Amino acid sequence: MAKSSPEIENLSPATRLVAAGREYSEHGIVNPAVYHASTILFPTYQALIDRAQEYTYGRRGTPTLRALESAVATLEGGHAAKICPSGLATVTTALLSLLRTGDHLLVTDAVYGPTRLFCDTMLKRLGIETTYYDPLIGAGIAGLLRPETRVVYCETPGSQTMEVQDVPAIAHAAHEAGCLTVLDNTWSGGRYFNAFAHGCDVSLQAATKYIVGHSDAMLGTITATEAAWPLIKDGYETLGQHAGPDDVFLALRGLRTLDVRLERHMKNALIIAKWLAECDEVDEVLYPALPGARGHAIWQRDFTGASGLFSIRLKPASEASLAEMLDGLALFGMGYSWGGYESLVVPFKPHRVASEWPEGAPYLRFHIGLEDPEDLIADLAAGFARLRAA
Ligand SMILES: *Cc1c(COP(=O)(O)O)cnc(C)c1O
Repeated sequence: MAKSSPEIENLSPATRLVAAGREYSEHGIVNPAVYHASTILFPTYQALIDRAQEYTYGRRGTPTLRALESAVATLEGGHAAKICPSGLATVTTALLSLLRTGDHLLVTDAVYGPTRLFCDTMLKRLGIETTYYDPLIGAGIAGLLRPETRVVYCETPGSQTMEVQDVPAIAHAAHEAGCLTVLDNTWSGGRYFNAFAHGCDVSLQAATKYIVGHSDAMLGTITATEAAWPLIKDGYETLGQHAGPDDVFLALRGLRTLDVRLERHMKNALIIAKWLAECDEVDEVLYPALPGARGHAIWQRDFTGASGLFSIRLKPASEASLAEMLDGLALFGMGYSWGGYESLVVPFKPHRVASEWPEGAPYLRFHIGLEDPEDLIADLAAGFARLRAA
């Protein structure tokens, strides 16, 4: 569904998040109705033959779904958007929509793990070859493009290791060669990185993270330019993609507060990242918004803000001491996903095939929630004391 109205593009991002998709509300009720629908009736034989109505079948959309599609297209600044049942489903749907047997795909080496698995298994089986590239390659991507390269896939900052990609340089080289650029834009929430202004053709998000924002639903979004839209729409519909109305409602609710939540996530994350950078136990803070951190210059050039997700590399420590630190944390939960209101931490091991990354020391990925940062710092300080004592 195309975005709501031309005028909305002229409003500032915070206002757009409040206004977007509201044209699907009825009866003066602020929010659109949550329609549970499969069958949608046609009034006459002729109307059915002609499919002469806006809504024709549950899978093909309801006003609830259209409201979120419209709002996401507005948020991302793309032509139109589709909603998938998970973030991973948006990745697979977008790639299956754009690629054919015999095509070549370039994927950042810092890509989200399950995306890598999809490329290495199902796409490989379909005769689509993936080459992984150094996330920091920038304009050098031109050297990896082949006549059969169809898509260059970016994710910035990279999953876990947080390299900031030079997306404009990559997208420019891709376009010169007639390739499409697809971006996993989850980290920025679609709010702090304008994928289309930086040359991307398709922007994906795990709406599970910041759009839903409360750790209570799984969804994904695919937004595209007008040129890329027909392939995305066709692939989405052919694959039978759809998203349930209650989850769509939760995403619409989440969107309304995305701006204020992200602002606080960033504020809190910066306070904690600065504190961590001074801790003896910490070797490096991987948070592009932190002055002096890797990727800070490109982040400053291309992003308008930062989310609450970042990583650190600790100085070498035993598994047992790490377990002591993490098991005793009171405010940081250990679990996957992120983007909710609560703070999280997970250990990880960087996985690389096309770029070097320091190994041998523990890495932690933090999601900084909406708690008071002083309480979070006290929790972490006690954790480091346990790490030292173990
Ligand atoms: C979580 C995540 C996904 C997948 O989203 P799900 O909703 O968990 O399927 C994709 N990309 C990134 C960067 C993610 O963090």
